Amino acid sequence: MVKIKSAEEIELMRESALIVSKTLGMLASEIKPGVNALYLDQLAETFIRDHGAEPGFLGMYDFPNTLNMSPNAQVVHGIPNAEPLKDGDIISVDCGALKNGFYGDHAYTFEVGEVAPEVKRLLKVAKESLYIGIREFKAGNRVGDVGYAIQNYCESHGYGVVRELVGHGLGKKLHESPEMPNYGKRGRGKKFVEGMTVAIEPMINMGTKNIKQLKDGWTILTADGAPSAHFEHNVAIVNGKPELLSTFQYIYDALGIISDEENEFRQTKIRS
Ligand code: MG
Ligand code: MG
Repeated sequence: MVKIKSAEEIELMRESALIVSKTLGMLASEIKPGVNALYLDQLAETFIRDHGAEPGFLGMYDFPNTLNMSPNAQVVHGIPNAEPLKDGDIISVDCGALKNGFYGDHAYTFEVGEVAPEVKRLLKVAKESLYIGIREFKAGNRVGDVGYAIQNYCESHGYGVVRELVGHGLGKKLHESPEMPNYGKRGRGKKFVEGMTVAIEPMINMGTKNIKQLKDGWTILTADGAPSAHFEHNVAIVNGKPELLSTFQYIYDALGIISDEENEFRQTKIRS
């Protein structure tokens, strides 16, 4: 059953979403060649606790860390390890935080040093598809409208859209109803209404959509070994329209990126 949130609950969710947004912003200036994911994971755990929240993923379904760190051909759910990042890598960082009983759940794929142009293009298209999907998350539309928009855009660029893993409702539970696939048919599935809160999170592969799982029981990789990108925002329906609760602005501030991509989804100014 979909849990509709009140305006007060949405503000609490924004607080949790901003903690994960700030955590990724803090990591943005730390991610470089030679640094390892385990170190970054420890920085994130300390940062989240210092902001009065609990790491959302640590211990969830027995996951051993604060961050999902998924480099290169890893799609999602990578376990942080001590292997140094290399120039030209990409790494998808997925972060959860729990505060006031509500989860934030937010992901970004970072470039490590200088990345190949075709990989930059994958990241650009995957992130654009996130906003194309969010634009469809409005009162009266349906789950399939979001999935269709993301799938159509990414496949038109020749990329594979992962089927087995999907976005989700978000709130007092990390995974609430409805599931939010990154593929689908227009006009199908659950209808969106005021007060719904979801995590939209395209997982986009440069090659095949097919995936495999490592024996660790967690790590998901592309079946063909080609790179994969993952971007995730938390969004509420406010006044019938998509309202972003998370933000990449802290990442952009750290990396010196100028972007107005979030403006159309922001009815409320971000509190610092
Ligand atoms: Mg996530
Ligand atoms: Mg999620």
